[in-house]
Amino acid sequence: MIHCPLCKGASNRIWKERKHRVYRCKNCSVAFLEPVPECVEKTYSKDYFQEWYIKYYEERKQYTENLFLLLEEHIKAKGKLLDVGCGVGILLETAKEKGWDVYGQDIAPFPAAYCKEKGFNIFNGPLQELNFPEESFDVITMFDVLAHLKDPVSYINTSVKLLKPDGYLIIKTPHHPCSLFFLANLLSFTGKSRSLLHIPAQIFHFTSHSLSTVLSAENLKMVYLIRQNDFSSYSGKHPLLLMIPSKTVSLLTLWKKQIKEKTYASEIKK
Ligand SMILES: [Zn+2]
Repeated sequence: MIHCPLCKGASNRIWKERKHRVYRCKNCSVAFLEPVPECVEKTYSKDYFQEWYIKYYEERKQYTENLFLLLEEHIKAKGKLLDVGCGVGILLETAKEKGWDVYGQDIAPFPAAYCKEKGFNIFNGPLQELNFPEESFDVITMFDVLAHLKDPVSYINTSVKLLKPDGYLIIKTPHHPCSLFFLANLLSFTGKSRSLLHIPAQIFHFTSHSLSTVLSAENLKMVYLIRQNDFSSYSGKHPLLLMIPSKTVSLLTLWKKQIKEKTYASEIKK
C-alpha cells in the first residue's frame, strides 16, 4: 500500500507510464507521483528556464501583470512581498513596478544568479532556511511552485510563519482533475502521456478540492479562487497534447493567514 505523503492516507493508483506512477489519496484526494525522482532539483537547469520562461519572457510578464490586476482588487495596501520559487524574476519585476518591496527565493542556482544580476534580493536555498524573522511579509506568492515540491506542507507552514497576521499567501498551480488522468491513461501507449501531466517535474496534482483540503488545515482561509487559462500551456514542446482544454487551466487562489478558527472548503467564495 502506498500512503499519501501529505496526510498518510491510503491511496489508489490512477495512472502509469513506464517507470512513472501517480496515486490519489482516498483521504485528502491529492494525486502524487511515486516514486519521486531522487534528484528532481536537477530538472531546474538553465535549459529548463530558457525553454519555459526566458523564451516567453514578455508574454509571461504580460500574463503576470493581468493576474496582479485581479489580485489587487482584494489586496489594497502594498508592502513586503516574498516570491517563493521566483525563477527568472518575472513576478518580482511585475510586483516591483507596481510598488511592492520585493524579495525572492529559489532552490536552483541558475535563476537565483539570474535575478541577483538584475539587482533583486534573492535567497538561493530552501525556504525553511530563509533568514527572516517571523511575521516579516505582507504577501507571499507561489506561482507554479507548490506542485513541484517534495514537501509542500513544510513550505506552507514556513510561509504561514513568515506572513504577518492577516497576511496573504497567493498560490497558482495547475488544475489536474480526474478526467485529465483518464485521458493520460488512454494516451499512455504513446509513451508521452507524462507530458500532459508535466511529469517528472510535477510531483503533486491538485484540484480546488484537494488544494483546499490540504491548505485549510494549515491556518489558512481561502478567500478567492478562479480557474485561469494557463500561459505555460501554450508554450510547451508537445502542441497536440497541450491543445487539450483541461491542460490549459490553472487555479489562482488567495489565502488569508488566520490562526484561530478552522475553515472548510464549503466556505470558499467563488
Ligand atoms: Zn492525503
